[in-house]
Amino acid sequence: MLQKFQGVKRSTLNAINISPLQTGGKLTPEAREALLQWGDGYSVCDFCLGVLDEIKTPPIYDFVHEALPKFLGIEHVRITNGAREGMFAVMHALAQGGGCAVFDENAHYSSFIAAERAGLDARTVPNSGHPDYGINPDDYAKAFEEVKKETGKSPLLALLTYPDGNYGNIVDAKRVSKICQEYDVPLLLNGAYAVGRMPVNAKDMGADFIVGSGHKSMASSGPIGVLGVRDGYEDIVFRKSEHFKKKEVEMLGCTARGTAIMTLMASFHSVVERVKRWDEEVRKAQWFSAQLEDLGLRQLGDKPHQHDLLFFEAQNLYEISQKAKDGRYFLYNELKARKIHGIKPGLTKHFKLSTFGLPKKDLQYVVDAFDYIIKKYA
Ligand SMILES: *Cc1c(COP(=O)(O)O)cnc(C)c1O
Repeated sequence: MLQKFQGVKRSTLNAINISPLQTGGKLTPEAREALLQWGDGYSVCDFCLGVLDEIKTPPIYDFVHEALPKFLGIEHVRITNGAREGMFAVMHALAQGGGCAVFDENAHYSSFIAAERAGLDARTVPNSGHPDYGINPDDYAKAFEEVKKETGKSPLLALLTYPDGNYGNIVDAKRVSKICQEYDVPLLLNGAYAVGRMPVNAKDMGADFIVGSGHKSMASSGPIGVLGVRDGYEDIVFRKSEHFKKKEVEMLGCTARGTAIMTLMASFHSVVERVKRWDEEVRKAQWFSAQLEDLGLRQLGDKPHQHDLLFFEAQNLYEISQKAKDGRYFLYNELKARKIHGIKPGLTKHFKLSTFGLPKKDLQYVVDAFDYIIKKYA
């Protein structure tokens, strides 16, 4: 009976994968090797003196305290168990159980849950609605004013999702940070879909905190994230325990201890290199978007698009689903038959996908598949 848990094969392993969650988290060959080397539990702790990021062998210290601060453009970095854990650490440290925060309306659900757990009341800057779902940076000022009027205090934190995880919209972060500075509200940049894909520099953008996701965008097995904190906030976010002198409270004493950190490090060289090719990724995404629009779909969000995460509205596919034998599962099944994976089963009218890291010929194959499927049901 229990043997069913063994040797489970991954059916989607050899498909062309356009799942936005997965395109940036595919392991490099070096990371795959690290996965085997360091797979045993607590294997990274051989030479630990009590603080994960101070381990010299393997070179976690150099990675966390030299390579990552330079990469993120921020002074203090820690490894977390994911982007959400990084956001939670910042929120919990600043909130101390109360207060307001201002998020963009496109923020990820985990930002709201992190706020809930931290006891922060999250208000939102509304998006512009269909079809752009844009965030106007100036609306942060309005939201700050409203919080002030209502509570008598400034919000404790502003959050910008860069880009958001639905439409892949890129908001002018510098303009948001200018407003935050005017109101003296620290800014947290959620770069779960940016760090490891595209150039992001916290200092250039004026962000006080930045988070990234290793398993989403840094070619790592995860669960793992990175958290950057600007000079001046490190004693708040990374405060030490009163009882265990070396242990940081918001990190619960230790975070990603295992294959997650080793795959993140093993892929880092490739990740730094791929970020330099971001322009190419944007061009591919724009090309792909235009191809699907030629087939009668409509891309929502920023246009021309500036990110590989694309959201489509497909009235034509929806209409097919109304009469197809498989109903709303027809698209998933048709794509699966062509070894294309990543659009959620049952979705036809609205779905997102990602072109990140895929060769043009694979993207052409996906376009041809859509073309074929649409004509087949016409
Ligand atoms: C995926 C995602 C997250 C969550 O990332 P984890 O590392 O899994 O916690 C947070 N924010 C956005 C915008 C995301 O797309």
